[in-house]
Amino acid sequence: MTFASLGLSEALTRAVADLGYDEPTPVQRATIPVVLRGGDVWASAKTGSGKTAAFLLPLLESLRSRPGGSSRQVRAFILVPTRELAAQIVEAVQQYGRHLPKPLKTCLAVGGVSANPQMLALRGGADIVVATPGRALDLVEQNALRLGAVETLVLDEADRLFSLGFADELTRLLELLPERRQNLLFSATFPPAVHKFAEALLHEPTRIDV
Ligand code: AMP
Repeated sequence: MTFASLGLSEALTRAVADLGYDEPTPVQRATIPVVLRGGDVWASAKTGSGKTAAFLLPLLESLRSRPGGSSRQVRAFILVPTRELAAQIVEAVQQYGRHLPKPLKTCLAVGGVSANPQMLALRGGADIVVATPGRALDLVEQNALRLGAVETLVLDEADRLFSLGFADELTRLLELLPERRQNLLFSATFPPAVHKFAEALLHEPTRIDV
């Protein structure tokens, strides 16, 4: 099994080869084709499984092959529980996207640092925003982040989003997204609250449990 056989194009397969990835991990094999065809994903996946590339590689492929919408909008919105995880994801986007002919604009929207540079970076929209929930809501309230044209929502480490107390923020953010969109949910565990949330959020998801 190769990354190319999962439907990824040369710019992305070359980037993973540069990183020394010989072949896709099980969660990548199961997830990448589903994301590429626009389906929702309900994945049980732990850190270390290769889950980040499982959602980022097909996301980058879709974003680069579909023309962008309004330039003031955000196309892919990735919500995570911590700023460290957000920074890792932005770094991974940079690595996986390095051979794309046109770079994808990626912005970080996390707390603990001044909001001003983030607001400036978001002017004119972004292909990808990686955010923690509190700061994302702040930026929405300041009218710096517009979520009305999001095509794909990713929730990474959903169980930690809940255990860290972000359920209310999540609900408020989801209300700002368009109803028709792709949803990808990754979680190491599915306690009842997260299970119920996944059922309400996901539309005919492919269940991936590796
Ligand atoms: P993650 O589960 O997303 O936190 O990824 C864990 C680590 O595995 C990261 O350091 C990735 O760079 C690495 N990784 C992801 N996919 C592969 C792969 N197919 N082959 C080798 N390493 C990988």
